[in-house]
Order: sequence, then structure tokens, then C-alpha cells
Amino acid sequence: MPELPEVEVTRLSFASRIAGATVHRLALGKPLRWPLGLDPDELQGQQVLRVRRRGKYLLLDLQDGLLLLHLGMSGSLNFAPTQLAPGPHDHMDLVTDRGTLRLHDPRRFGAVVWAPSEDSPQARKLLGHLGVEPLNGGFEAASFHAALRKRSAAIKQVLLAGDIVVGVGNIYASEALFMAGIRPTLKANRISRPRSDRLHAAIIEVLSRAVQQGGSSLRDFVSAEGKTGYFQLEAAVYGRAGQPCRVCGTPIRSIVQGQRSTFYCPTCQKN
Ligand SMILES: [Zn+2]
Repeated sequence: MPELPEVEVTRLSFASRIAGATVHRLALGKPLRWPLGLDPDELQGQQVLRVRRRGKYLLLDLQDGLLLLHLGMSGSLNFAPTQLAPGPHDHMDLVTDRGTLRLHDPRRFGAVVWAPSEDSPQARKLLGHLGVEPLNGGFEAASFHAALRKRSAAIKQVLLAGDIVVGVGNIYASEALFMAGIRPTLKANRISRPRSDRLHAAIIEVLSRAVQQGGSSLRDFVSAEGKTGYFQLEAAVYGRAGQPCRVCGTPIRSIVQGQRSTFYCPTCQKN
């Protein structure tokens, strides 16, 4: 599943090339997770002003409203001057005078939704519950700790919920908790300020590093320029059950939390 770093890498791969482009047409394939919300013909002639990201949504600002794109479980975006005829898993072509942005999404949990503004009910329904962005300077150690103090669930579950800070998906939650030396099952409200500060720093580091490295590629992520990421090659704990901890040599353990696999070192990560 594409996580925040992959979505950010995808954004960086085409944002500057599509900015200023004029939309010729939007062609949709099979139904995605939600309907577009307007007649695609109404987008014709509109300019794409810029591409932003909020959580795992890409926001294409148009002269009138915006398009919200989500990659779902298996989606990828590719922007190229020309595209081949759409295949069975290509479900959106945004054709512009500078190229075509194509959504390839075999499982069709992705989405392309138009909203009149970011404050509209359509956009708020998708973006309204999202926590702060981890990488733009608005993520503060003090408010992070204050928010954790109000939660009695396991810290990994609290991170995955995304309402305190967005983008800490399954891989990155395991990695950040390892870096901070915190057991994933520890109740969030039992984490002291110094440990919370270490986790805060670890979240920023693990996500920034993943963006730098081109996003992770545990399954089928390919960035819009066709390069696969390689974060998994140096994961400390994720996907390494039974293998020796890179710090202390203890075999990495795998447990299931909320139907998702969690990986941790029972020696380095304390309750
Ligand atoms: Zn260890």
C-alpha cells in the first residue's frame, strides 16, 4: 500500500511538470472508490495551478476547485507526454497540453474526487479528520506528547489512526518505534516526555529518509517516473521476523495488532 513517502515522491515526480498545464479532458475507466462529483466535461480548459499533498491525498488545484487523488491500496500515477491506450487497470487519464496523468489501480480502492474548495463538505469529508503533517514544520514535540497523554490505546495503533499525525503507516510506525526504543504495545499515555520526544524525532527522520530514498516498495509501488523505491532494503525491523536485530542480535518478533503485522526487537524496545 502506498504510504505517505510514496505519495510525496509521486507528487515530486510530476508536480513541476503539470503546473500550468491546461486540461483537455478527464477520462474515467471503471468506478473507483467514490464518484468524481461533477461532469468531467466541466474540467475542460481549466488550468492545473499546482499539486499539493495532504496526508495521502494529492490535491491538484484548478482554476475552479480542485481534484483530490488517492492511490488506495494499489494505485500509482504516471505523468508522461504520451500514454499507450489504457489497459484494464488504468482508470483515469487527465489529458493536458503537457501530457497525461494516468492512474493505474488494479484493486480500485483509489479515488479521484472533485471539490469546489478545500473547505467544502466534499473535501472536508476526506481531509477533515487528518492530523498534522509530519514533514512541514507544523509537527511539534510538545503537542505530540500532549496528544499521546489522552490516548490509552497501544502507541502503534494510535500512530496508525493518523488523527494526531498523518502518514505514519504500518511500515514507518514499526521503524520509528524501533528507532525510539519503544515497545509497539505500550499504552500511548504511559510514554514519558523524553521518550515521546525521541519518537517525534524518529517519525520525522524515518519519513524524511524514505522520501529521500524514493519511497518504499514492499509490493507494487512504482513512482511516476517508473523507479521503484528501496526503503525496505534497510528496514531495521519491518519484515524481519526471526532475523537478528541490527543493534543487539536478538531475533526480531512479529505480532498482530489491529489485523496489521508489527515487528519489534524485544530487547531494544521497552515497555
Ligand atoms: Zn535489538
